[in-house]
Amino acid sequence: MDHRRIPPVQGEENMAPETAMLGYGYYPEWSEGAVKCPNFQTSTFVFPTAEAGKTYFEMAMGKPGHENDTMGLIYSRINNPTVEILENRLKLWDKAEAAAVFSSGMSAISTTLLTFLRPGDLLLYSNPLYGGTHKFIHSILPAFGVEILGFQPNQTREEIISMIDASGLGKKLRMIYVETPANPTNHLIDIRMASDIAASYTAKNLADAKSPEMARRVLTVVDNTYMGPIWQHPLQLGADIVLYSATKYIGGHSDLIAGAATGSASLMTAVKRMRTVMGTNTDSHTAWLLLRSLETLMIRMNAAEANAKEVAAWLVKHPAVEKVIYLGHLNESDGNQYAIYKSQCKGAGAMISFVVKGGEKGAFRFLNHLHHIKLAVSLGGTESLAEHPGTMTHSDVPEEEKLSLGIVPGLVRLSVGVERAADLIADLQQALEPEHVHLHTDPAFGHIL
Ligand SMILES: *Cc1c(COP(=O)(O)O)cnc(C)c1O
Repeated sequence: MDHRRIPPVQGEENMAPETAMLGYGYYPEWSEGAVKCPNFQTSTFVFPTAEAGKTYFEMAMGKPGHENDTMGLIYSRINNPTVEILENRLKLWDKAEAAAVFSSGMSAISTTLLTFLRPGDLLLYSNPLYGGTHKFIHSILPAFGVEILGFQPNQTREEIISMIDASGLGKKLRMIYVETPANPTNHLIDIRMASDIAASYTAKNLADAKSPEMARRVLTVVDNTYMGPIWQHPLQLGADIVLYSATKYIGGHSDLIAGAATGSASLMTAVKRMRTVMGTNTDSHTAWLLLRSLETLMIRMNAAEANAKEVAAWLVKHPAVEKVIYLGHLNESDGNQYAIYKSQCKGAGAMISFVVKGGEKGAFRFLNHLHHIKLAVSLGGTESLAEHPGTMTHSDVPEEEKLSLGIVPGLVRLSVGVERAADLIADLQQALEPEHVHLHTDPAFGHIL
């Protein structure tokens, strides 16, 4: 039975998202009474008639005249029931009109940027950025004629505006791209400030345009991977599009690669048309795994956050730790960072960065001695992971830039999982004090750990 022909039960979308994840948008009657949405593992769909196939294609291509027709299933690069049911659930967390799921976070980012940016357009972006995004913005977009301009977390609204105006490209500004909290330094960018700046350039364009339809709208796009979709809701702060690496918290089990975008129906339609042409869609099996993941999203993220608070409080007191960077530890002395945290984050998250004494050597010694916590990049999974940003995820960032951003040689990034906090702390302790543990595990001491 075609899920598109049966509207979702009214009101279900108004339940708390953690409730809606258990049923919204899928009815067992569609699939032999199966409680779970099946994996519709098929590349293509049978059309009821040739005329229906013609209509579906015209609708997929955005041809007018089909306002009252129902779109049907065509081919899994264009649409697939498992993927669409996932998108219908995913949008509820951000209270978005629509969502689009992709084969990776990078395909969500690249497809969205290529949907809206044209040669000569200006892209304003925040620093620091996820490594892949940094590379896409710096080495791919300029080759297509897109102008790029970066700003720093400590820059004020006025400084950013005068920087845009000084570039002489204010009229060409098309998008403000923000990653907050930034990976791996947890720097915060004020999303309201970014969307206000975008609105002020949109207003200037409206004043100059011959007709409102011809005015360029400046879009605010936020990478919400670190906080979302639980601890930060950029659409409510004025953003137009929210992007995710769904590989991280949304997938949450370190067993898939995926990405997502949420936003208005019209923006998501544009993004999905580009996705169909670029082929950056995800497959039904990954979508099916993500449906499973969404059922426990809230409890996983809450458990990880509760653990992170305990771990961060313990790390601060450890003599081998020079500095702990955790959102939950921000206070008045951190100036604008604390104010932004208070006004836009609903939680402190579960990402901790900390500086181990002894520079790279000290950090490596710690990482090499971890037992339970895995030495791996990625984040947001059920298991805790640790890595060294300076030589791994951010090895491409120029050395001076690393230091100015706080990516010092002793910096370690920890993604806290859902284990028992005491076990994580015990593992961190033995890895921070390997010589101490060595003494006690020396055969001469009879393994008195
Ligand atoms: C991992 C990550 C990405 C890229 O996502 P992939 O799923 O690996 O393609 C983008 N942004 C942030 C903040 C990330 O952590």
